[in-house]
Amino acid sequence: MFTDDIQAFLKRHNYIKVEPRAALIDMDGTLYDSMRFHSRAWHMMCSEAGIPSEEDEFFMYEGRTGASTINLLFDRTYGHNATEDEIKRLYHRKTEIFQEIASVEKMPGAEDLLLFMQQIEMQRILVTGSGQRSLIDRLEKDFPGSFSSETMITARDVVHGKPHPEPYTMAMKLAKVQPWQCVVIENAPLGVAAGDAAGAFTIGVTTGPIPREELEKAGAALVFDSMEELAEKFPILVYSLITTSRNFN
Ligand code: MG
Repeated sequence: MFTDDIQAFLKRHNYIKVEPRAALIDMDGTLYDSMRFHSRAWHMMCSEAGIPSEEDEFFMYEGRTGASTINLLFDRTYGHNATEDEIKRLYHRKTEIFQEIASVEKMPGAEDLLLFMQQIEMQRILVTGSGQRSLIDRLEKDFPGSFSSETMITARDVVHGKPHPEPYTMAMKLAKVQPWQCVVIENAPLGVAAGDAAGAFTIGVTTGPIPREELEKAGAALVFDSMEELAEKFPILVYSLITTSRNFN
């Protein structure tokens, strides 16, 4: 199962095989069903500040740092970047609105997937563009034993947000693995692009309005329709990865 997709990935990255020892996992829209609240909060903040925006466009920016999204909006609206003060104020306001409106649930399937990883002693690193403590603090309660503060790369750790490979490259260093020794799990095109640019076997999961073609275009090695489907098929995927070597014929 998955052999053709694995072969295509090995060929594209010029690897002999993938032996996954670590899973580098995105948070919003992957472990938590939080993206619709983020989009709404961005859109509400923009409306308050008089910056034109569409609620759904923020799904496409998922993974960027807050500063980068604000600069994108400023550049489009005013033709220049925001000042440090504007970035701080507007991102703070977006965070406030998010905390007011969000009633965030775990993504169905996420817990089963993490439990399987724990069972097979696959390392888990959280890689998120978010710097919001409210969700990061919930991880231990919602997914006990899966992550610790030492196994996270957040917005506070990186200079470049996704789609730059830096967050995933840092996560590989933290896990002490090479790119061919990990998988990335992502729901957003920019996150998928970051994982693929870092050289990882990047699994896309469609959990929102973004169609699977966008994740494939961004470089996903495989795309699943839900975290539940990924949780169900992950054991066979791991088996297929470790038993498939590049076919040079
Ligand atoms: Mg995400």
